[in-house]
Amino acid sequence: MITVGRNYWLDSASFPATTPGPPPARADVIVVGAGFAGLSAAYELASHGARVVVLEARTTAWGASSRNGGMVLPGLKIATGVLRSRYGLPAAQRMYAATLASVEHTAALIRTHDIACDFARSGHLEVACTASQFGRYARLVDDLARDFDSRLRIIPPNELAAEIGSRSYAGGIVDDRSAGLHPARYAAGLARTAMAAGAAIHEHTPVTRIGPSSRDGAAGYEVVTPQARIFAREVVIATGAYTNGAIPALRRRIIPIGSFIIATEELPEGLARELSPRNRMIFDSRHFLHYYRLTPDRRMLFGGRAAFFPATDRTIARSAAILRRDLVSVFPQLSATTVAYAWGGTLDFCFDTMPHVARVGGMFAAAGFAGHGVAMATYAGALIASQLRGMPMDNPFAGIPFRGAPPGLHAAVKWGLPLIAGWYKLQDWAGR
Ligand SMILES: Cc1cc2nc3c(=O)[nH]c(=O)nc-3n(C[C@H](O)[C@H](O)[C@H](O)COP(=O)(O)OP(=O)(O)OC[C@H]3O[C@@H](n4cnc5c(N)ncnc54)[C@H](O)[C@@H]3O)c2cc1C
Repeated sequence: MITVGRNYWLDSASFPATTPGPPPARADVIVVGAGFAGLSAAYELASHGARVVVLEARTTAWGASSRNGGMVLPGLKIATGVLRSRYGLPAAQRMYAATLASVEHTAALIRTHDIACDFARSGHLEVACTASQFGRYARLVDDLARDFDSRLRIIPPNELAAEIGSRSYAGGIVDDRSAGLHPARYAAGLARTAMAAGAAIHEHTPVTRIGPSSRDGAAGYEVVTPQARIFAREVVIATGAYTNGAIPALRRRIIPIGSFIIATEELPEGLARELSPRNRMIFDSRHFLHYYRLTPDRRMLFGGRAAFFPATDRTIARSAAILRRDLVSVFPQLSATTVAYAWGGTLDFCFDTMPHVARVGGMFAAAGFAGHGVAMATYAGALIASQLRGMPMDNPFAGIPFRGAPPGLHAAVKWGLPLIAGWYKLQDWAGR
């Protein structure tokens, strides 16, 4: 029996009690948003002695950080070929290297702070929906090995059964460095770690306005919430796809794209092993892709159905029915299995489909993870913290233009999105 809107990850995690009372009148750094990016920045800054206050409109990890697939993936949303032709090989190599570093950074953070979040180096499997898509994998694997120090493995059609219990695909590629985790348990652990380092986290504290200000001759920002007005020298914006009118400069740069997920009831061990013998993080080769994996308690979690309408009970129920149909077409073995959970979330795309870790209106912002944010948002928080501490790590995303999305696409007014969706659906239909 599906409970529409119920998020399996949140249902199976427990979050620490956050800081009681209203926020203080002053801080060194205010972080807006308590997802992976904000919590990671807060931890790094607080552990180096800064007075950090995190302001979260809802509850810890209420946004994309508790709603995702929990896949810890190297690489960016855009292909390395596009990366190279757009930015040149040296810059593209630094960007790809940053994505590899983000996976290792996340793994080290989890290990160092003993965060119980079911982190497992299970690797990921990309499956080709058509023979022509499979045909392109050989070149991709060579290209990644030659220029990006990446060792992906081709899985030919006759070896696919050892990777996935489905006959829907024409072959695959595996990257053994990828991992899976329980995103809500990870976020809860990050919050605990940040608070243990001295950061304050105030939930139910929406920021409604931010403006330049000064105190005692020091320039900074006044951050307004219903509970308090807070002055800080620096502000980190980590509001992702949920950026609202309180931060207009960032909102104009974000294209919010919805994605939906269903999770089945717990599967018998044998069936789970048949569907995913190596417990990979799996996604297919389409633009409007399906992504799926087993949860730590052996449910099949199946996501996809990119959409430009917000997640409401009605849109979640509709998406859940479509995702269930797609799940059964990939895994007919699940035709009698109950779907127990269905929820939606919003991805933050920027117009160039790139992550941005840069100053916006004088403040630091991290956005544009485009479905690759579990490790990268965590890493972006650390990049921002290192820059604020004057100990900059290599940030290959700092120099790239961070333009606003054209009218009709950004988070404030988004009538143009269905046109782009139509174009990509056409490409999927044509098997491109
Ligand atoms: C359905 C789905 C599946 C995904 N799957 C994967 C995956 O498998 N692997 C992967 O790498 N990435 C995945 N992603 C992307 C990844 O989840 C995100 O990139 C990442 O969580 C972004 O983290 P964040 O901290 O930037 O933002 P978020 O986690 O979205 O946090 C932003 C927070 O800011 C708060 N906020 C907004 N405005 C204000 C305000 N004015 N005042 C105070 N607080 C505010 C929000 O309430 C929210 O909690 C997925 C995303 C979705 C939606």
